[in-house]
Amino acid sequence: MKYEKKIYFDHAATAPLLKEAKAAMEPFLGEDFENPASGYTPAAKCREAVENARGQMAYFMRARPEEIFFTSGGTESDNWAIRGAVELEKKRGNHIITTQIEHPAVLNTCKYLEKQGCRVTYLPVDHRGVVSVEDVKNAITAETVLISVMYANNEVGTIEPVRAIGRVAAAAGILFHVDAVQAFGQISIFPESMGIDLMSISGHKFGGPKGIGALYVNRQVPFGPLIFGGGQESGMRSGTTNVPGIVGMAAAASQWNRNRERWNRSERRIRDYFVRRALKEIPGATLTGSAENRLSGNAHITIPASNGIECIRALDERGIMASTGSACSTGRKKISHVLLAMGYPEEADYAALRFTFGPENTPEEVDEALEVLKSL
Ligand SMILES: *Cc1c(COP(=O)(O)O)cnc(C)c1O
Repeated sequence: MKYEKKIYFDHAATAPLLKEAKAAMEPFLGEDFENPASGYTPAAKCREAVENARGQMAYFMRARPEEIFFTSGGTESDNWAIRGAVELEKKRGNHIITTQIEHPAVLNTCKYLEKQGCRVTYLPVDHRGVVSVEDVKNAITAETVLISVMYANNEVGTIEPVRAIGRVAAAAGILFHVDAVQAFGQISIFPESMGIDLMSISGHKFGGPKGIGALYVNRQVPFGPLIFGGGQESGMRSGTTNVPGIVGMAAAASQWNRNRERWNRSERRIRDYFVRRALKEIPGATLTGSAENRLSGNAHITIPASNGIECIRALDERGIMASTGSACSTGRKKISHVLLAMGYPEEADYAALRFTFGPENTPEEVDEALEVLKSL
């Protein structure tokens, strides 16, 4: 099949590599290939590039360079944060508080830890996908060693009351981890000022390359490694340094830092245009999630008496990429754990569709998508 052009509305799955990120990476994919840990002179350039990138990432978070550890991505950062916190606090207790709408990288790490003897509270959310700060407070016991709540949800784009939860965690002296993978870039986040001890980010969700991420660890937390080996990243995360990935991620973060307001505005304009027309022109369509506390590029709608997979397929035939909210590997209609937690019925006779926009999307692209959806 050949399309006139690709129309990409799935930025929450991965964002296109920004040209500035690609350009920053190029030398390190070519002649500057050395291992930064090597002793000869050319390796120093690689080392400097990595430390510059660390300094930039720290600057964007109002953190210190020694609080930034590069990982292979959001999944590894989430695993490390949660398992590391449990390991660190094992003498104090073994209870984790999280939410029902976390990414599988958090949920499945918690499920694993339950098998290892931890107790996990999966807090519910309201109809918009917001977790209650009161619920967090009430779930705390003497055994609680970690609170892990995402900054913004990857399916419905709902932004969680992270600052207020940070205050609760700090008052109780409990470590607070935030999966900020969807939010970082889109939103400027200063973890220390929000009471965040551990924060996961991922390069490919904000215009950097895939396979690179970071974990912010507040310098007061005596954290240990999850991955052992040659002692890279101050002994905290071994493995030969991904120089192009690190440099590309920092370049992408820098572009977001510079253009954030403008890019948010254009995402919001496209998103609102899509939502306004979809709700008016598609019978029964409703917006999922929160109208106010929402990532600027996220639109998530449900359409009654429709099939999400068929909608995605019809869009795909026109070169338009979007996603269903559901994990439908078996082909049966089963809604996502996020919608389920938000109170949507399990037996879905409606389509759940996620459109996540980037700054480069245009109204004409939205017009094409709406035409396809209306024709169904
Ligand atoms: C994508 C995503 C992850 C996983 O990040 P990877 O870098 O792809 O491993 C974790 N959490 C959230 C909220 C995500 O959206």
